[in-house]
Parts: sequence; C-alpha cells; structure tokens
Amino acid sequence: MATIKRKVDKPPHLQHIKVPEAQGRRTNPNQELYNSTRWRKTSKAGLKAEPLCRKCAKEGRVKAGRLRDHIVPYNEGGDFWDTDNHQTLCDSCHNKKSASESHKNRIK
Ligand SMILES: [Zn+2]
Repeated sequence: MATIKRKVDKPPHLQHIKVPEAQGRRTNPNQELYNSTRWRKTSKAGLKAEPLCRKCAKEGRVKAGRLRDHIVPYNEGGDFWDTDNHQTLCDSCHNKKSASESHKNRIK
C-alpha cells in the first residue's frame, strides 16, 4: 500500500547539483594553484635563485634542491605567492616535511 519511494533524498530542484564528495577526497584545493603557469614560473625562478636544499644546508649538507616548498603551508595560512614563504627542498626533505603535513602536494 505504501508506495513511498526513498531513493531520492534531494528535492527535485536540487538534483542537478553535483555532490563534490562523489569525487573522493583526493581533490586538493591547492592543486589548481600548483598546476598554474604562475606557480611554475615562480618556483622555477626560485629554484634558480636558490638551487640548494635549504634544510640540507642547515644541517651542513650540500644537496641540490628539486622543488619549491612553502615554509608556512598555504592551507595553514601561509602566503602562496610570497617568495619569502618559499624555500628550496630536495626530494627527501620535502617528503619528510609533507609527510608530517599530509602526503599530498607532490610536484612533478
Ligand atoms: Zn634536503
């Protein structure tokens, strides 16, 4: 008798709206910034200006850096574009650092 169908939770006028969580949690909001031409240029210039890994240098090692890292992570309030907030890191230092933050943000 009761033929109430419960397959649709959203009211009809909302059904066209895509639910972002359907894409899973892999989508990093910063990824768009990291993929931007501006970041590529900024990080390239930064690597040129500071070719050695800063963390290794602090510990007395001389190691070529491979990527520009945000000293204060963007999602923790750091300025994404402020070059004072950038540092050069080698892969292993960056991996260690981002492992303690999260393990995303890998720049190729
Ligand atoms: Zn290093």
